[in-house]
Amino acid sequence: MTKPAAASALATVLIVEDEPAIAEALAVALYREGYRCLRAGLGREARVLFRDDQPDLVLLDVGLPDGSGFDLCREWLAAAKVPTVFLTARGEEFDRVLGLELGADDYIVKPFSLREVVARVRAILRRASRARERASSDEQTPEGPALFRIDETRVRIEYCGARLELTRYEFGLLRALLAHPQRVFSRAELMDRVWADALDTGERTVDAHVKMLRAKLRAITLEHEPIVTHRGLGYSIDPCG
Ligand code: CA
Repeated sequence: MTKPAAASALATVLIVEDEPAIAEALAVALYREGYRCLRAGLGREARVLFRDDQPDLVLLDVGLPDGSGFDLCREWLAAAKVPTVFLTARGEEFDRVLGLELGADDYIVKPFSLREVVARVRAILRRASRARERASSDEQTPEGPALFRIDETRVRIEYCGARLELTRYEFGLLRALLAHPQRVFSRAELMDRVWADALDTGERTVDAHVKMLRAKLRAITLEHEPIVTHRGLGYSIDPCG
């Protein structure tokens, strides 16, 4: 067995799953990777563990005997943003948009491969730790090396000091992303925010506008790639490139 990496050795994963065999298999696989695991088969147990043990990540079954994983997620994400991955049974209707709106980082359909779960857990924790590092370095330099400057009164955005020539929807899209740096927006959310008044548009519209925006940003400089694609989830922006 390989020695767990130092960073993951400290991470605690809360497994909320009422099927003992699944919970056990997840716990064993994650433990082998060096994670500390907590287990809850009921929502009310999960609440106690969440509060007292402050996990770094939650694997959350959608269908629990005493309630829905969505409700739990809604409750505790209001208190603290902890990366959450939903576990959902095949055939069980999973409301992906609701899951993403609640701030979930991912979802996995059962039956799943343990290797896949472990890989996703590792990726999400790595991302969370990078975001924390970035947040703490941003605190040290509050001005930050932001690449964008929004001029709301003139409906303009500058990128690396150069003015972007944007259409109305490109402006709306970029402003929506910049309002919440690093937050992953689903296409549906972006449609709601930017294309609320438009008719006959689909989620492809978002992709097409992101493509155009990227081309305009690249025309100014190839040094940064601020718009990030999250496969199967949507887009975010890193305003510092
Ligand atoms: Ca269940």
